[in-house]
Amino acid sequence: MRKLNELEFDNTYRRLPGDFYDLVRPTPFENPCLVSFNPEAALLIGLDPEEAHNPDFVEYFSGRKLLPGSEPLAMYYTGHQFGVYNPDIGDGRAILLGEVRNGPGRKYDLHLKGAGRTKYARVFDGRAVLRSAIREYLCGEAMHGLRIPTTRALSIVGSGETVERETPEKGAMMLRLAETHVRFGSFEAFHYTGRPDYVKLLSDYVIESHFPYLTDADDKYGEFLGEVARRTASLIALWQASGFTHGVMNTDNMSITGLTIDYGPYGFMEAYDPDYAPNHADHFGRYSYSNQPPIALWNLRKLSLALGPLVSSARSEEIFSGFRDIYAGFYTDIMRKKLGLRESMPGDGALIRGLLEIMRESKTDYASFFRGLGNFTTSASGGETNASTSFPDALQSGGWADQYRNRLRMESSIDHERKAVMDSVNPKYVLRNYIAEGAIRKAVDENDYSEIERLRMLLKDPFLEQPGSERYAAPAPDWARNLVISCSS
Ligand code: AMP
Ligand code: MG
Repeated sequence: MRKLNELEFDNTYRRLPGDFYDLVRPTPFENPCLVSFNPEAALLIGLDPEEAHNPDFVEYFSGRKLLPGSEPLAMYYTGHQFGVYNPDIGDGRAILLGEVRNGPGRKYDLHLKGAGRTKYARVFDGRAVLRSAIREYLCGEAMHGLRIPTTRALSIVGSGETVERETPEKGAMMLRLAETHVRFGSFEAFHYTGRPDYVKLLSDYVIESHFPYLTDADDKYGEFLGEVARRTASLIALWQASGFTHGVMNTDNMSITGLTIDYGPYGFMEAYDPDYAPNHADHFGRYSYSNQPPIALWNLRKLSLALGPLVSSARSEEIFSGFRDIYAGFYTDIMRKKLGLRESMPGDGALIRGLLEIMRESKTDYASFFRGLGNFTTSASGGETNASTSFPDALQSGGWADQYRNRLRMESSIDHERKAVMDSVNPKYVLRNYIAEGAIRKAVDENDYSEIERLRMLLKDPFLEQPGSERYAAPAPDWARNLVISCSS
């Protein structure tokens, strides 16, 4: 494992032409202090976790010193925001410090969010607030714990400075890791500025770095688009199955390698509601829970436009016409597992839809229902389970419980075996908004960061019953039910 000044940089993005970025250094804070450090993320880049105690750690990750080998830059991209093309985006406040290779050869971007203004900052201040840094930091870990592809964060460093938002707030910098921060919007940027040569160069760069198995394919760029579509379908299926809504699925927030990226006003739904839209600035519900699969396809169409003549329209259409089925295949497979079904049988889709319809009507808590369903018994009648789980009456009177029991019997399902499998796919703990808010309030109001650490540890393995943590599994209490998450970050 390496010390901070031994990290091995290999800055491939920096070797692309100058139009791809703005060479800019972070604007440091006066009085940085470490808010949180994630040893799991340190291991990803081969960094010795003990380095968190090195006084230089906060210096490096608050922009006061540059790591040896770092060549900081802000990445250029554009994108469709709420359906409208914005030619003027790019990393306005995040700075790519460089790319670090870990021992086994994987590479990670070190991306410092809140690092100060760049050429792409427009009228904004280049900063990030502590509140949103904590939300992003915790959700990256929550998603990772749920086995959903995501960026992760190494650290949050508090700035001791005030940032002006709706009200004055505490500022922070967060160090984010990802295999790449290239987005759909990175391709759009060059398409809409008439640089097809750069679109091709970026495609070749991404294929070589992240899809090397496509390098020699006959229709390389068509295969690339197909692979991005497949990864996106898989990602969205995982989001849907976990009840996660991103909140801002603009094309500049769509990762080219299929990671969850740019956490803002996201949410894990509590009561099952297809119209759930955690972003209160999203007045028409464009980015609601149930719109995520069609929006993903809409975004992929924008990506294919940006790829221009590299992919024939016939090939694009073939990919898009298959998207729904590919997505549905991923989604149904995961939902089958959540129901503890081993085999695929006709009627499974209807069984899942029937359940969700009842859950919607009865406003059933999504995560705790599925967790409790592991206690269902094939011998009992109605919706009886071994434990006092929230099994809505509607599921019994409507006959769903009987359908489910019959379906389980068709594959000779054994209760205790099924429960073990279900508990490994239905999380006990998800990052409910009010839970994240508790950690934020303590950190912001009392400079007490213990709850961030508590949640980080808890969410590492959300499938495991953790003694003393029952309260983190509970649906929002009344005071928190209508918590409005500010969109400013
Ligand atoms: P986001 O909503 O965080 O994905 O940001 C959308 C765009 O606005 C990106 O180009 C960001 O870099 C930029 N942006 C958001 N907030 C700020 C800020 N405080 N300073 C500079 N740029 C910002
Ligand atoms: Mg963004």
